[in-house]
Amino acid sequence: MRLLVVEDDPDLAGQLAEALREAGYAVDLTRDGEEAEFLGDTEPYDAVVLDLGLPNVDGMTILERWRESGHAMPVLILTARDRWSDKVAGFDAGADDYLAKPFRIEELLARLRALIRRSGGLASPVIEIGPVSIDTRSSRVTLDGTPVKLTGQEYRLLAYLAHNLGKVLSRTELTEHLYDQDFDLDSNTIEVFIGRLRRKLGAAAIETVRGLGYRMVRPEDAES
Ligand code: CA
Repeated sequence: MRLLVVEDDPDLAGQLAEALREAGYAVDLTRDGEEAEFLGDTEPYDAVVLDLGLPNVDGMTILERWRESGHAMPVLILTARDRWSDKVAGFDAGADDYLAKPFRIEELLARLRALIRRSGGLASPVIEIGPVSIDTRSSRVTLDGTPVKLTGQEYRLLAYLAHNLGKVLSRTELTEHLYDQDFDLDSNTIEVFIGRLRRKLGAAAIETVRGLGYRMVRPEDAES
């Protein structure tokens, strides 16, 4: 999952980026409203953490413009203001959630998990796909009830496939959602990680759709 964090307070921005990367997200960070608007227009983020008071363009305006342009990614507003009227204005501008500063990072992480889960049409934090079970709260994966040890990279790929259940994902799309802007990626990387996941979870866990990409399908939904 790739996130955009828009926050002009350098200390808070640094803390957020660190905590989110540690939680397994690819993170693009900007402190400037104009750059934030551009990034949201051009990059495929899975969620955005958006401060309201920003240099050049304020967060509420950015959000309204994104929604007018049809960008549907979940947006969580982060702000020092916690008056009820600001919350109403934020939701009406197209925000999906709201967190008032100061906040606990654990709460931000839980809210982001919920937003991303909901945007993938999933209600439960535990995703079950045949014998594979993925607990998005703890990043733990089991196969037929037995814990499977995955690296951070493998888990990120698996979680992205699972959040897009049934959807065919191209290598380009996977790359764009799993790595931040500055990451220099070899075009075979995704294939290598798919291979490792199949060895750990069984060859049937991830389907190859020739010429198009990869997908995970629940066995009961698979076409025979
Ligand atoms: Ca600010």
